[in-house]
Amino acid sequence: CGIFAYLNYNVTRERRYIFDVLFKGLRRLEYRGYDSAGIAIDSDRDWPPAPAAGGENGGKEAGRPPYDSPSPLIFRQEGKIESLVGSVYAEVDAMDLNLEKSFPVHAGIAHTRWATHGAPSPRNSHPQSSGPWNEFVVVHNGIITNYEVLKETLIRHGFTFESETDTEVIPKLAKFVFDKARDEGGEQTVTFTQVVTEVMRQLEGAYALIFKSPHYPNELIACKRGSTLILGVKELADANCGTLFHDDKTLTTNGKPKEFFFSSDLCAIVEHTKNYLAIEDDEVVHIKDGCVSILKFDYGKEKPASVQRALSV
Ligand code: GLU
Repeated sequence: CGIFAYLNYNVTRERRYIFDVLFKGLRRLEYRGYDSAGIAIDSDRDWPPAPAAGGENGGKEAGRPPYDSPSPLIFRQEGKIESLVGSVYAEVDAMDLNLEKSFPVHAGIAHTRWATHGAPSPRNSHPQSSGPWNEFVVVHNGIITNYEVLKETLIRHGFTFESETDTEVIPKLAKFVFDKARDEGGEQTVTFTQVVTEVMRQLEGAYALIFKSPHYPNELIACKRGSTLILGVKELADANCGTLFHDDKTLTTNGKPKEFFFSSDLCAIVEHTKNYLAIEDDEVVHIKDGCVSILKFDYGKEKPASVQRALSV
């Protein structure tokens, strides 16, 4: 029902602060109605979540994550945001996770769910993920109408599903696309944008999506079709963001401290910044190294075209 993301770049934020921004975003979305809520943040490097027994691919991943960056931690549950907040702090305490740990760059995502497929439950809450190591973590607004076909195909490829949501096919498809590209092309041959555009190519229905992945640490990708999605950029050293350059080849924004926000609702963004941009259908927004690049996805063409857009000031 509502999505929100926060990425701080070159501005050190403590985990406690990151939680606060994400919870604040969720509270802003609350008025739209919801039945469940959740967030994903980074763990400390030496705190990977334990893989589920047996796991996907028959527990092949047991031992250590298939990446070197910190594992995403997912907190989600049915019910009110305030009860999610309470249980997050209880879990943080039980895990001995350091709330004062600071991150010069960090990408966090959040969601309020209004169930369309699968009853409200912790398992059906978002973020949904690709498996025990949370290689792809997704929040989704909307409905994927061809999820049953995609699910069947992924099951044939050995994936197991834990939720009844339509959303779960999205992170699993991302992992499938990523693994396939890596098997074919070797390590580091596939970009985050390539993974997401390939996933979009297969999805039917309406969506606003935000992707987070430890394979692409400190990056976020958001895209949409049919549902609302807004990007906010707050340049901390200089309030005027002006025009950003959106070209994959010339990522030219400077290294100034910035904060990036995504939300399905402008009201969750305007309290942070007045520099925002309404994302259009089939645009893919990639935040990396303090830069924004926006690609327009065209289903008929193999490669999406880059587009240049100006923020409203
Ligand atoms: N269709 C998704 C689900 O049922 C997302 C619903 C929403 O937009 O909150 O989990």
